[in-house]
Amino acid sequence: MSKAPLFERIAIIGIGLIGSSLAHATRVNGLAGHIAGHDADADIRERAAALGLVDSMHADIADAVANADLVIAATPVGACGDVARAISDHLAPGTIVTDVGSVKGAVIEAMAPHMPDGVHLVPGHPVAGTEHSGPEAGFAELFRDRFSILTPPAGANEEAVARLAEFWRAMGSDVEIMDAEHHDRVLAITSHLPHLIAFTIVETASELETELEAKSRDDDVVTTREVIKYSAGGFRDFTRIAASDPTMWRDVFLLNKDAVLEMLGRFTEDLTAMQRAIRHDDGDALFELFTRTRNVRRGVIEAGQAGRFQYTENGD
Ligand code: NAP
Repeated sequence: MSKAPLFERIAIIGIGLIGSSLAHATRVNGLAGHIAGHDADADIRERAAALGLVDSMHADIADAVANADLVIAATPVGACGDVARAISDHLAPGTIVTDVGSVKGAVIEAMAPHMPDGVHLVPGHPVAGTEHSGPEAGFAELFRDRFSILTPPAGANEEAVARLAEFWRAMGSDVEIMDAEHHDRVLAITSHLPHLIAFTIVETASELETELEAKSRDDDVVTTREVIKYSAGGFRDFTRIAASDPTMWRDVFLLNKDAVLEMLGRFTEDLTAMQRAIRHDDGDALFELFTRTRNVRRGVIEAGQAGRFQYTENGD
């Protein structure tokens, strides 16, 4: 006799990269009797339905969450409060509500006030992703061998936390539980700051390229786009990361402001020390630092987190 699925009906709100990957992984692993979907965007609803990602697609969010025992908000973080408000009158007691947002404190603040009695809010964050967006971008293995972090608020229902952890484990994730504030500080340095650096360096390079092109036009020289031409170097990885979804990342920086600014301050100090070492021809300082950072990379590989799809949150 086959085992009953973990949830009778899962509702996925927001069918982008993460939402569609959840739909694939839920189906492949037989984790739900029924997968319902909703996206605010009619075009995305149509595309997701055509791909057969869900069992039912709903234009009305209330219809999507009706009778669901698990609701997952897979929208940008800034939309989680609106989602919580829109579903709150339609949730059955005992329902688990979670999300996948890259920031956790702000999500709890935005969602918790709308949760009716008897509904369990257990926020989460799969530390897995790619730079792609939309329903076509998802795949079932996205969460395999990646960490999924749950940040249950104080007093959260333990059974709900355990059930949600089982859901993530069944999709191949390693589950960690921590408080939201800790999550937001850790991810600020491991994911949000690297993205900020990538966005900035790509912008700096592209401004420089525009200047060089203008100059060579003045000099009557035929120009090539050198940033693109030579991007096989370290720059290529920055361009990949900097191609990440603008809405998602705008929300991350605005909603994890304090932790990001703290890490940016620390980073700026270290950058200044590096600048000084170069200016003073301090090769020993540079060599020692590069040796230390090389060891960090070894640690990442040993922890099994050096995979291709890892977002720099994203490994995010
Ligand atoms: P995505 O591909 O852009 O998908 C998000 C979807 O949600 C879009 O279809 C969007 O529609 C829809 N949406 C926006 N507001 C909505 C609302 N109020 N109600 C219903 N649907 C709404 O984004 P994603 O990469 O899957 O990211 C989703 C969440 O996962 C974010 O919170 C992000 O922080 C988190 N996350 C992302 C990654 C990653 O690598 N991408 C990794 C881990 C966690 P429109 O496009 O029309 O707005």
